[in-house]
This record gives sequence, structure tokens and C-alpha cells, in this order.
Amino acid sequence: MSLIKEPGKIQIVTGPMFAAKSSYLLAQIRRDRVIGIKILIIGWSKDTRSNSHLKTHDHESEPAIMVYALKDVLLLKEYEECSKIIIDEGHFFGDLCNSVLLMAHRDGKDVLIGGLYADYKAEPFDEMVKLMAHAKVKFLTALCKKCKDGTEAIYTKFIDLELVEDSRFNVGGSEKYMSVCAKHFLDL
Ligand SMILES: [Zn+2]
Repeated sequence: MSLIKEPGKIQIVTGPMFAAKSSYLLAQIRRDRVIGIKILIIGWSKDTRSNSHLKTHDHESEPAIMVYALKDVLLLKEYEECSKIIIDEGHFFGDLCNSVLLMAHRDGKDVLIGGLYADYKAEPFDEMVKLMAHAKVKFLTALCKKCKDGTEAIYTKFIDLELVEDSRFNVGGSEKYMSVCAKHFLDL
């Protein structure tokens, strides 16, 4: 990897579901736009490349390019022209660590990644954890949906065990998942 510019900054914002990670990304995007920073927003798609939106659970959104692998972005004109990259749901990308290092360390882009560091079994998403070794990490917490008294939640769990499909790539929102504290993760 030959360094041609100052390396870009890598920042990860992580935590369980419902910790307002996507809202954090949107707030950063809107703040950066005020001073004219050119931003490319990337989301994950199982299917072929398409245009869609980065959405929060509150239905706020920004236009995004949806790809299956981040390496597909590296040749785009929009990539060439931007100075900052926002990646939503980083945990879904199998080439996250390698591609982000190319973006930041080879191409000098600042990269902000939002995503889960662990799945509903509290098992790590390896690409996110690997990338943490190169990133400034911001950890957001949610609130426990069972305690309902403001207790912090760092786990994500299926609401109904009958809904569990053994896939870590099971996309969903509050109809399937809830954020819980340790006591409720362990069902004590
Ligand atoms: Zn709880």
C-alpha cells in the first residue's frame, strides 16, 4: 500500500440497536455539509448496486449508494470526488476492514462507520472488531426495553424467540429486535 496523501481519519460509532447510531451519522453529515465537505454515503445491499437512503428508526434519511462489497465503491467517480465517506451498517460488509484501510490510508479519505460490534448472541462481528484497532471508537448505548426506567442497554436481542432465524444478516427494526441490559440479556 503506497501512501500518496496524509492518511484520512477512521472513526467508528457502535453500540446495540436503538442507540441512535444512524442519527449520529446523519448529524455528522449535516454538520459537515455546512462547510462544503463532499460526502459519499454508503449502505449495504444484498442485491446488486442501487441507490437508496441512509435511514434512521425515526424515518429521517439521506441519499446513499447501496453496495454488497465496499471494494465496488473504490472505482466510482463519486468516490474519487469525495473527501469523506459515511458507511452505514458496517457490520454487514465482508471486506470492511481492508476497504476502509484503502480509503483512509491509501486514498486519504476520512471515513466514519456506523454499525453493530456484536450480534444478538453477543458474538462479535469480526470485521468491525478488526477495524477498531485502526479507529477512534465512539460507543453509544440504548435504553433497556424491559427495565423501562432508563437503565442502559448494550445488548440487542430478539423480542420473540420464535422469530429467531439463525442469521446474523437478519435485517430488521423494532418489530424484531429490542435493546436490553445484562440482566435481561441473561433472562434473570
Ligand atoms: Zn433491563
